[in-house]
Amino acid sequence: MSYEAYKDNSLGFTTKQLHAGYNPAEHYRAKAVPIYQTAAFELGDYERCVRLFSYNEEGHSYVRFSNPTNTVLEKRITALEGGAGALAMASGMAAISNTFLNLAQAGDEIIAVKTLYGGSTTLLTSLLPRYNITSRFVENENDIASYAKLINSRTKAIYIESLGNPRMNIIDIEAVANLAHAHGIPLVIDNTFATPYLLRPFEWGADIVCYSATKYLAGHGTLIAGLVVEKGGFDWFSGRFPQMEEFYNEYKKSITPDELRTTLFSRRLRMVYLTDMGAHLSPLNAWFLLQGIETLSLRMERHVHNARAVAAFLAQHNEVKEVSHPSLPQNPWHTLAGKYFPLGAGAILSIRLRGGKAKALSVVQKVRIFDYMVNVGDAKSLIVHPESSTHFGITNAEREKAGVYDDTLRLSVGIEDERDLINDLEQALA
Ligand SMILES: *Cc1c(COP(=O)(O)O)cnc(C)c1O
Repeated sequence: MSYEAYKDNSLGFTTKQLHAGYNPAEHYRAKAVPIYQTAAFELGDYERCVRLFSYNEEGHSYVRFSNPTNTVLEKRITALEGGAGALAMASGMAAISNTFLNLAQAGDEIIAVKTLYGGSTTLLTSLLPRYNITSRFVENENDIASYAKLINSRTKAIYIESLGNPRMNIIDIEAVANLAHAHGIPLVIDNTFATPYLLRPFEWGADIVCYSATKYLAGHGTLIAGLVVEKGGFDWFSGRFPQMEEFYNEYKKSITPDELRTTLFSRRLRMVYLTDMGAHLSPLNAWFLLQGIETLSLRMERHVHNARAVAAFLAQHNEVKEVSHPSLPQNPWHTLAGKYFPLGAGAILSIRLRGGKAKALSVVQKVRIFDYMVNVGDAKSLIVHPESSTHFGITNAEREKAGVYDDTLRLSVGIEDERDLINDLEQALA
């Protein structure tokens, strides 16, 4: 009976991360999810071909839009997130950019916060404006009035991150979702730093969740991948999203009323954007990602445990001027962390050093266990100097608004032994 676990939504998170969405009986009872390493599928007969291409039969024809390995991954993340549908994308940036393109057309606007991942900020400020999709940035992401005053008839989404980069700032998601919904606008969240184990944004009102699965979901720094998950239930027919109505009118014969209510966004993303822009994940990388997800909850428990210990150690160290991690009682987002992150507010933290930039650079040269890398969310501990890397080339004022100074270091705390991580930082700071 073990294969029945694939469809039981009442199971716990850890059970789901191992079983959800995969029925071995449909795959020669292979216990591991098979890798369908093929570019295309035989169509069978003419009638079946027509049913597939009119979306009246579920199945696979060409791997640019779907393949069975990715389908398992998509069902698994949907189950872990508590959503209705998902798409596996070639990278986190593919997930985010295709989401914006599905929501906004020329002349439309997106409201976003300033504390975003750098790639997302440049997408919104440099690339999308060339296609006349513009963004308005909120002055203060913890003040709901800052969002409200930017909303108008052209607004197609509010975009935030559940844990900001690199200061791990937390936004009152529920309040932003309520505001967005009062205006018929969806709330989109990049939940990369939290993962569905620590935070499920749909439970707080988000409509779309994006991931760079490259980070904790894959977990071992071995691949680039992205995911888009749809909650279902958002009303796309209020008049604000004519492209969704056109899409439905074109395909209404193959979309049931239930699918219309729950998965219109992800259907359009697949049928329009995967088809024409092609950023689907490869089945091999989907398989690696499924391997990573099997241990997500266990790794995240250890990540947050180590991050709390490292934050507490750094907070009392003489060379350290400031530690940003919501687990610390003096942190400005400590109260919001209590509401949204009862299991821990992630494992990334930033620090500022009393010895300035010279000290920061000496620490990244002296660490032995932490690796000097721009990545985050690896099982292994990583450290970086954001001013000269992730936040390079922007003005000092912009950088400082994001909480990055020349004496700032960002740490992605891994799952090594806590004592070894603290000893490593102690010797590097000495
Ligand atoms: C890494 C990252 C991205 C981009 O993801 P890629 O997989 O590198 O394309 C987006 N958002 C956040 C928060 C990230 O950390």
